[in-house]
Order: sequence, then structure tokens, then C-alpha cells
Amino acid sequence: MSLRFQAINDLTSETKEVEVTGPSKITAIFGSNVFTLKTAREFLSDEAYKSLNASIKGSKKIDRAVANQIANGIRAWAESKGVTHYTHWFQPLTGTTAEKHDSFFTLKGDGTAIEEFDGAALIQQEPDASSFPNGGLRATFEARGYTAWDPNSPAFIIEIGQGKTLCIPTIFISYTGESLDYKAPLLKALEALNKSAVEVCNYFDKNVTKVTATLGWEQEYFVIDEALANARPDLVQCGRTVFGASPAKGQQLEDHYFGAIPERVYAFMRDYEAECYKLGIPLRTRHNEVAPAQFECAPIFEEVNIAVDHNSMLMDAMSRVAKRHKLKVLLHEKPFAGINGSGKHNNWSLATDTGVNLLAPGKTPKTNLMFLTFFVNIIKAVHDYSDLMRSAIASAGNDHRLGANEAPPAIISVFVGQYLAKVLNDIESRVGEKFDEQDEAILKLDLHRSIPELLLDNTDRNRTSPFAFTGNKFEFRAVGSAANCANAMTVLNTIMADTLKAFKKEVDGLIEKGDKKEIAIMHVIQKYVVHSKKVLFEGDGYSEEWHHEAERRGLPNVRTTPLALDAMVTDKAKHLFESNNVYTHSELEARHEIELEKYIKKVQIEARVMGDLALNHIIPAALKYQQEVASNIAALKAAGLADSAYTAQLAIVKEISERVQIIYTKVHELVEARKIANNIENTRTKAIAYESQVKAAFFDDIRYQVDKLEHLVSDDLWTLPKYREMLLLR
Ligand code: ADP
Ligand code: MG
Repeated sequence: MSLRFQAINDLTSETKEVEVTGPSKITAIFGSNVFTLKTAREFLSDEAYKSLNASIKGSKKIDRAVANQIANGIRAWAESKGVTHYTHWFQPLTGTTAEKHDSFFTLKGDGTAIEEFDGAALIQQEPDASSFPNGGLRATFEARGYTAWDPNSPAFIIEIGQGKTLCIPTIFISYTGESLDYKAPLLKALEALNKSAVEVCNYFDKNVTKVTATLGWEQEYFVIDEALANARPDLVQCGRTVFGASPAKGQQLEDHYFGAIPERVYAFMRDYEAECYKLGIPLRTRHNEVAPAQFECAPIFEEVNIAVDHNSMLMDAMSRVAKRHKLKVLLHEKPFAGINGSGKHNNWSLATDTGVNLLAPGKTPKTNLMFLTFFVNIIKAVHDYSDLMRSAIASAGNDHRLGANEAPPAIISVFVGQYLAKVLNDIESRVGEKFDEQDEAILKLDLHRSIPELLLDNTDRNRTSPFAFTGNKFEFRAVGSAANCANAMTVLNTIMADTLKAFKKEVDGLIEKGDKKEIAIMHVIQKYVVHSKKVLFEGDGYSEEWHHEAERRGLPNVRTTPLALDAMVTDKAKHLFESNNVYTHSELEARHEIELEKYIKKVQIEARVMGDLALNHIIPAALKYQQEVASNIAALKAAGLADSAYTAQLAIVKEISERVQIIYTKVHELVEARKIANNIENTRTKAIAYESQVKAAFFDDIRYQVDKLEHLVSDDLWTLPKYREMLLLR
């Protein structure tokens, strides 16, 4: 019996539900596996606690002696929870998380065994990092990389089976100080943002000393039966199906979206949610998504750095917990063709230490002007750097989604909603007029009162925009479901930092020339509105007209990753990132190289898997069936029946021959195309070749033939689980 039928058999004959005894109250477990400041208070000396706290509040360095104390405190806490091992936890550019477990256990010089975890072990480690992508930053003779503690993210404990491990969140840098991970540049971008945003805030409120970027992500994912997933070599190796005919019942009824969460999945959700709560991840919503077997969860928003950690931790926890339930989580952007893919909306805003959300319209003219300042600056930032926004979300997986009429297009535009669009229009229409102090119309815009009621039926309803204002935050909707949010957040916060810096310079210039502050601000805002207008779009982002309109406006529409990544290494990008101290030129080039390599490897693996499946699964099944039909024809012929008695059989035999022939030929051509691409020296050229000569030239064509065969060949001979089984059985 093939794995397919075994899986289906088990699925329908055995109950697979795992009993989950969740907590009655989330607050009872929330953060119990996190070394929070509250825990720190309990386990650290006054001196150590103060030092840790100061370092979190203002990046004051922790000295060695105090680090030893903190390390001891963390170990005492961890041991009280049954932890024996620790690891520096980091987010390398492979897109997963990395750990290397070391034991607290050690031997003293005289052979006595003790448990130890000192400041040095807390602060820095040297994992054997030669296998992580570095884009040429570390020469082969110097393969060392260091992980260094990030005191801003609290240490936490992960439980795997009976084992418990203390995780120290770290950044990952090369021997020469270049960043090799997602977190290091993100922290730098957030610092740049803080600096320029505080300066602009001080026009309105001198009390602001810190601006924090906030992120609330929404994670979409598929959950299918593990045994069925394991019977699909493409899912196992690529995270997506390279073949599979559309089921008769897909998502057209949308009954899944409105339906109840299936019980087995519900048990799984409660289980991973409990894990997340212990890790301090403030999950709040869970629901079904549009596609069958697709779901979403979202937490309460947090400071960006923490939210990014939490999203990585969530993705790990989900995949781990799913195993207990004999389920498989698919985080890929497009696991099933013809069925909606998955995204990860990044809701983003800015908060001051005085408690103001800078992207929420204010109640007074003064706070209104502050809102308008930040609002217009982000529009300008996206306008000026839309190519970078596009590159930040580029991946082989996300290419399937962007522009597939289910996700925002690859054209980066900004949706602001009818009311604010009108406000911006009004501002623009007054070009040439001079604002003066009596100018109440603009300075006293009643944004606060007018916006809320419009939000419900307007602002929040445009689901087709990649970057939409949703009342008190922007929502970057084009991020892929498997992505680390850090990339998008590093770019967004850096371009905002830079735009605000330039804004301040212009306003100060006008003030020096004698403009009153508010008037100067209004003039620069007006200039920015005019300058950035073409990036604003309120219509249907999925429509064909928008593609034409965007082209007319000169907005870039880069559909594939290898080309989208070009934006990372333009002179403009290099200047931006260097002047804001986020990436050096060589770091950018290395990252560009790594992203291209990732793309190449993904397509390469998919191409191989496609070839294997076609030759080892599809063609054999088709030929067996053809043989059966052919014997049938022979039998009928022998019985003396006329040709007309088996015309259908003849047609089937013929169709199989034709399709098998095409598949066989194309697979061999595909292998040749891959060989040619592999010989290309330049990484960018190679990635482009993989996109155009391998993927675009063959994938859809081969798939078309295979999916036709799936409809034709006898069901009992087909070895790969079908879409209807993976999506609808649980
Ligand atoms: P929808 O599905 O309509 O987009 P959700 O309620 O699922 O809405 O998600 C809203 C998301 O926005 C949540 O993740 C939430 O944490 C986030 N969010 C709300 N306010 C802010 C804010 N000020 N900054 C960042 N994220 C926010
Ligand atoms: Mg959303």
C-alpha cells in the first residue's frame, strides 16, 4: 500500500486528537518561562538588577563583574525550573533560528564536577559558524563568528519533550564586526529611528526622550495531517507542492473562513498557545483563514525587536508542537497552487515615552500637526524607497504570492483612506498660497473626530494595498508568511529615520529664514505631499487597470526576486544604510549575495524534486494505468468487439502517451537548463537564469501535464496525496 493510502487509512480509522489540558487562565502561566525584569528583581542583587535595567532602558553597557552576577542569577532561576543546558539563540540569515546547546555542567581543574554559567558565557559565544551564510564576509580561513547577548530581549526557556534549555537571545556578528544575522541591523535601525523621531517630536513636545517602533504581526499558516504531508516529497523538501490538481471543492464556498475551527486543529492551537504564553508571547486572536486548512494568529503589538523575536519563537513553537498532534504546519507562502497563499501582515506604528501613538490622529491642532508630520513623512519614505520595500519582502516563496490576485501586487503603493486622501488633496491644492498664522483651516483640521467613523467602512477595508493606513498604524501587508519580520522592519524604520532627519533639516532651514515653527512644518509637509503623490493609491490593487496606471505613474513593478534584490545595492541604498549606521557597503553586498544564493537554492531544490517526482511517481503511475487500459482494449478486441466499443480506452491510452512524452522530454530539458545555470559564475546572473531559464521556462508546463494526468489516471494508482485529502481531511 502506498504511503498515501496508509495515511488516509490511519486518518479515518484512528482518532488522532491529542488531549490538551490547557490552563484555565492565561495570566497563570504568562511569561513563566521568561527572565522578566520582575524575575530579575527576585534573582539578582541590587547592583546587577540596576545595571541590567539601565542597559535595557538606555543601552548602557554592562561590565564584566556585573555580567557574572547576572549570569549567576539567570542560572539560579533556570535551574529552579529544571534547566540543565543553555544556548545562545540567534536568527541567522537562513531564515530559521539557531541554537547550540551547552551544558551548565563543567569539571574544575581537580576533577570536581560543578554547574557553572559565568558572565563570559552569557555575553559572548563562538559557535562553529562556518555553515551559516555570510555572503563572503568571512574569508574561509577566518570562519569565526560571535554571538553577543542582546540585553533588550529577555532570556527564555524552551521545553522540548522533557528537556529544558535556557535561551540567551543574541546578535550574530563576524570576527571583524559585520552583522551576519537579522537582529543586529534591526537594533541599529531602531536606534536610528529613535534618534530622528525624538528630534522631530521635540518640535511639538519637549518631554519626549524616546520613540519606540511597535510591531503587531499577523501570522497565516496551513495545518495538515503529518502522515499525508510526509507522503509528499515536495512538501517535505520544499515546503510547497510542485504538483497537484485543484480539488472539486476548493475555497469557493468560503465555508472554512466562517466555519468553526476543526477540533483536532483547535487542540493543537491551544497547545502551542500555552507554549507561547509561557514564553511571554501575547497571542490574542486565532481564526480560520480563507483557504481550507488555513489559519491565522496575532498577538498584541510590542516593541519591534521583541515582536520580531516573538514571531521567530512562535514559528518554532508551532512546528514543534504540531508534531505532538501528528500535524504539520506549513509556513510557506504558497503551499498549494490555486489556493490562497499565506502572508504575515506587519502592523507598524511609533510610540513616544510620553504615551502618544504618533500615527493616531490627535485631538488638538498641535497633536494633529504632529500626526500629520509623521503620517506624511512615512508616505514620503515609502515613495522614495519603494524599491527597498519591495526588496525587503522578496523571496522565492513570496514571488508566488505577490500579484497573484490574493495578495498585494509587487507594486508598492500606499493606501490612506478617503478622508485622509482628501486632507492631503486640500494641502496640495494650496501650493503657491502662503500659510500664515491665521490659517486655521489647516492647523485645525478636525482629524480626530472625523476619522473614527470612517475607519469602519473605509480605511480598514482595502485589503489589496501592500501598505495601508488602518486608523492608528500602517499595515505592511506584502510580507511573506515564512519571512523573518526583521528584514521588513529594518528597511521601514531606516527609511523613516532618514526621511525624518531630512525633514528636520528642511524645517530648521525655514525657521532660520524667519518662518514660525508651525508654518515651516506645514510648508515642508506640503512639499512632501506634492513630491510623494504618485505612491498614493486608493483603488483595487488586484486590478489590471492598476498595473497600467502604476506604469504610467512610473512606479516600479518588479515581479521576481533576483531583480527585486537589485535595490539593496544601489548607491542610494548604500548611502541610506551607511549614513544611518545600519549596514556598511560590504554588509549590504554580502546580504545581497546571500539572498540571491537563497533564491538559487530554493529553485534548484524545487527543480530537482519536480524531476524526481515526475520520473518516480507520476510517469510510473500513468504507465501502469495505461497498461491496464491497454489490456482491456486487447481483451475487447479478442472478444471480437468492433473498434467503436473501445474508443474511450484508445483516447485514454493515447492521451497518456502524449503527456508522458512531454513530461519526460521537459524534465530532461529542465536538467540541462539547470546544468547551464549552475555553470554561471556571477550570482546575480545565475539567479536570473534560475528564474527565467529554469523556473519560468519549465515549472508551469511540466505541472500542467502532471495535473492533467492526475485527473485521468485511476485514483488507486496515484501515490501522492491529493489536494482534497491534504486540505479537507483531518
Ligand atoms: P486585521 O485582521 O483587520 O488586520 P487584526 O486584529 O487581526 O486586524 O490585527 C491587528 C494587528 O494590529 C494586531 O496584530 C495588533 O497587535 C496590531 N496593532 C494594533 N495597534 C498597533 C500599533 N499601535 N502598533 C503596531 N501594531 C498594532
Ligand atoms: Mg491585517
